[in-house]
Amino acid sequence: MDLEQFREETRQWLLANAPKSMFTQPKSLDEICWGGRKTKYPADVQRWLDVMAERGWTAPTWPKEYGGGGLDREHAKVLGQEMGKLRLRPPLTGFGLSMIGPLLLQEGSEELKRTHLPPIIHGKIRWCQGYSEPGSGSDLASLQTRAEIDGDDFILNGQKVWTSYGDKSDWMFILVRTDPKAKKQSGITFLLMDMETPGVSVKPILLISGSSPFCETFLENVRVPRANVVGQLNGGWAMAKALLGHERTMIADVFKDRVPGNPLVDLARKYIGGERRIADPIARDRITQNDMDQRCLDLTLDRSRDGAKAGHKPGPETSIFKYYGTETNMRRRELMVEILGPQGLGWEGAGFDDKELGITRDWLRSRGNSIEGGTSEIQLNIIAKRVLGLPD
Ligand SMILES: Cc1cc2nc3c(=O)[nH]c(=O)nc-3n(C[C@H](O)[C@H](O)[C@H](O)COP(=O)(O)OP(=O)(O)OC[C@H]3O[C@@H](n4cnc5c(N)ncnc54)[C@H](O)[C@@H]3O)c2cc1C
Repeated sequence: MDLEQFREETRQWLLANAPKSMFTQPKSLDEICWGGRKTKYPADVQRWLDVMAERGWTAPTWPKEYGGGGLDREHAKVLGQEMGKLRLRPPLTGFGLSMIGPLLLQEGSEELKRTHLPPIIHGKIRWCQGYSEPGSGSDLASLQTRAEIDGDDFILNGQKVWTSYGDKSDWMFILVRTDPKAKKQSGITFLLMDMETPGVSVKPILLISGSSPFCETFLENVRVPRANVVGQLNGGWAMAKALLGHERTMIADVFKDRVPGNPLVDLARKYIGGERRIADPIARDRITQNDMDQRCLDLTLDRSRDGAKAGHKPGPETSIFKYYGTETNMRRRELMVEILGPQGLGWEGAGFDDKELGITRDWLRSRGNSIEGGTSEIQLNIIAKRVLGLPD
């Protein structure tokens, strides 16, 4: 369909089908639907998910045969732009849409795609990531969780840590050691594991803030069918890296402004003052610089997606996106807190409104982005070695 006709029809459809309360940006990622069997969402959130999933628009570019929207990049971009203009929030988020789904589309068997992609699109199943272990973070390939073959199953024993939302998830994509004698990268397999399987236990880790987004996951004689291998037995390292490519692009992309305007400018006008121009020239300069940096990243991400359309798989360049995206976002969050002045010093209680408290919390949370999905130092190592070709 012609792009302008699609734009008009999409806008009309969104206006007719989105519940009224969805025409606002969420205060945090937690207000968006993450799907799954373990969480009950408010009626409007659930309805918004259902109507969008029915059209495949929770995963607009995924093929129709698995329940996706089947849109090409140009049409999907128009859908995103119209949602942005209406300030409509995404109907669904999570590691299914951003990590394991894209990996299955790229590398999964037909059976795995047919089994797992439709429940992701409809928000029925929530996924978590079982990569890190107590002794294996940056040096991920040293992981020790064992999987031994027993008939048609593997039997898993070991421990994962920093499993984000492990207690709220239904399935985990997990890296396990299947050949302890091989070179460390060559003895790893990538599996899909139902969290309801006997022997899986999850323990939330309480953070200093009082929240517990992370868990420890313990595995004791857990049976996982051999049919749940993604890629080849002992070929999991290639899958792990391919998934990290999607994860790193997603982390960079999360910060993209989807609604028109620049919230930093509105914030500065309110807290620093100035009618048409922001009163403080240094703040003006820093806001403009940050905006330019973000736009450059957005354009580069768009260019990379156009490359993906032409059959290019995400590679080590995703480390550039992740590094640049998280650094730009940390500078942006810091600037927001500085603009608030004393109002940026609150954690809770009277004297600070919800928006101010949200800005302070987002600033602290942004530090974690430079660790998850591989730390900034690790991204710089990858860029040096695998993008620039510098010697070890
Ligand atoms: C918000 C958040 C969410 C997360 N969610 C998940 C999840 O869902 N699932 C999951 O499996 N994991 C998750 N993680 C874990 C994350 O992947 C690890 O924390 C990360 O890979 C770093 O590992 P580590 O914490 O063991 O640090 P370490 O590897 O011990 O690193 C410590 C420090 O040493 C530096 N360092 C290490 N090696 C090198 C090197 N070769 N060169 C230069 N510097 C180096 C690091 O940059 C870091 O500063 C999450 C982490 C965070 C913060």
